[in-house]
Amino acid sequence: MKRILITGGAGFIGSNLCERLLNEGNDVICLDNFFTGSKDNIRHLIGNNHFELVRHDITKEFFAEVDQIYNLACPASPPHYQYNPIKTIKTSVIGVINMLGLAKRCKATILQASTSEVYGDPKVHPQTENYWGNVNPIGIRSCYDEGKRCAETLMMDYHRQNGVDIRIVRIFNTYGPNMDMNDGRVVSNFIIQALKGEDITVYGNGLQTRSFCYVDDLIEGMIRMMNNPQKFIGPVNLGNPGERTILDFAKMIIEMTDSKSKIIYKELPSDDPMQRQPDLTLAKRELDWQPATDIKIGLEKTIKYFEGKINNK
Ligand code: NAD
Ligand code: UDP
Repeated sequence: MKRILITGGAGFIGSNLCERLLNEGNDVICLDNFFTGSKDNIRHLIGNNHFELVRHDITKEFFAEVDQIYNLACPASPPHYQYNPIKTIKTSVIGVINMLGLAKRCKATILQASTSEVYGDPKVHPQTENYWGNVNPIGIRSCYDEGKRCAETLMMDYHRQNGVDIRIVRIFNTYGPNMDMNDGRVVSNFIIQALKGEDITVYGNGLQTRSFCYVDDLIEGMIRMMNNPQKFIGPVNLGNPGERTILDFAKMIIEMTDSKSKIIYKELPSDDPMQRQPDLTLAKRELDWQPATDIKIGLEKTIKYFEGKINNK
């Protein structure tokens, strides 16, 4: 049994991770400031003797005795991270310094949830970990992209200077149960719009691409990374290589939900990356990991989850 801190544990990925690590017999501390996360995601875990919920903001110091830290705290959806951009960058810089300080003091292993956004609007396709990226430092996505890039720098410097045991995973677009209905990301937007018979809002011409990974696959990759015996620190890409255009994705959701919704086109937000697909060679070699869930199966589970949420309202 390990004592594991999960920051952002009440969010989409964090809550799925809390559940999996508890089921594997660990002691889990879920820390969250509930900016985008929700108690609903972890309510069923409250009462479990091995689960603790702490309302806290990682931009303030936190003390606990733990063996492992999964640092997931940070809003991930563009409308949410752009709502208070200064707070977003503080979370990725001051928050990460606080978590690295904790890891240093406890001699804990710390895994940072980085992102494909460190590649910006990539000129290398598919994206490999040795690509340094094409990020606008002054745009509306910069608070997130540059914050996450700085977080990677901090991780590497604490590792080199203080010997902190680190892991960096670069997560590509992930979907599944516990996504917030009002999150504003494409998967939740399209499914909710289709289920409610509302217009499906495609931004731009819809020819930009994304590659979607089911949350259970991602979590398997994160846990393998945290516990890998050769102490491979990364950064490593985790995602699904199945790339599709946003327009095709909209059509797929309409078909799967048997919806009467129509596609409408809205303005493309600035700096929206044109293409994104993870190169998974490193993850396969170092972690013997690759995603296993077919997109149709993953989406069926996600649609069922959102149907339940809409019906309970
Ligand atoms: P989410 O918004 O559902 O979860 C983030 C959680 O962090 C929320 O519960 C939120 O309340 C909490 N939080 C935010 N700021 C905090 C702070 N200062 N202190 C404490 N808690 C704070 O997003 P998610 O999709 O679950 O993403 C989790 C992590 O994975 C994030 O770091 C995100 O950048 C990263 N990531 C996610 C994706 C994806 O596709 N979901 C892709 C790349 C990277
Ligand atoms: N998008 C869209 N309609 C929406 C929400 C998003 O067309 O209602 C597009 C968005 O412009 C981007 C892609 O879908 O090209 C993925 O957006 P998301 O916010 O999910 O994540 P991103 O990968 O951009 O961080």
